[in-house]
Amino acid sequence: MESEDSDYIWLRLDGQKRLATENYVEGNTVYGEKLYKKSKIEFRVWDPFRSKLAAALYIGLDVFPITRGTKVLYLGASTGTTVSHISDIVGHNGVVFAVEHASRVARDFLDRVASFRKNVIPILQDARHPKQYFSIYGKVDVVYSDIAQPDQTEIAIENCHTFLKEGGYLFLVIKTRSIDVTLPPKIVIQGEIKKLKTDFEIKQEMTLEPYDKDHGLVIARYHVKV
Ligand code: SAM
Repeated sequence: MESEDSDYIWLRLDGQKRLATENYVEGNTVYGEKLYKKSKIEFRVWDPFRSKLAAALYIGLDVFPITRGTKVLYLGASTGTTVSHISDIVGHNGVVFAVEHASRVARDFLDRVASFRKNVIPILQDARHPKQYFSIYGKVDVVYSDIAQPDQTEIAIENCHTFLKEGGYLFLVIKTRSIDVTLPPKIVIQGEIKKLKTDFEIKQEMTLEPYDKDHGLVIARYHVKV
């Protein structure tokens, strides 16, 4: 069984349903993922245990506003696992501005991902200071934030105020243990959602079990009340 979407594909490999994206750089792998050819097009298998966005797609997303040509601001690029799949999806007409502050991690990110992909623009900055990113031009369609900081929601909101277009989407990955280890993850997520209510309409919220125990994901639309 195979089902296709315009942006990613579900395929059956070794008897299991797997998610994959069309490889932006043929022959290139980023984190040891399998490559698969179908009708001469190469796909990279997208691992839900390595990428929270893949986990969310396995669990079920009501909205997925990332498509060919989308402009994404990604906070917390790390070594680029998820950024690389978003780069596959947005393709040649899209762009991923990828912010990472840790220099050692950023070096790996440059070597593995940014140097091969023309649609990825690395920004070696602290996401707490969005006004210091000089390489972003215009507004973005999506802000994706995965930075595992106690003030992660406030940082994401500030980046949205600076760069997200009216009606654009925020994907907020919440590391619940970074905020409060004593409370159940669902309660922590509700607390963070309250901070979004003024400027966003909440579209979906989820925990990422069974792929990830410590994280939740909130998808919200910016400024839709006005
Ligand atoms: N999103 C990545 C993925 O799916 O492949 C994993 C992100 S990892 C959980 C969090 C990353 O955020 C780390 O690489 C960390 O260095 C980065 N980070 C944390 N605080 C940051 C900040 N204030 N500014 C920029 N990057 C930050």
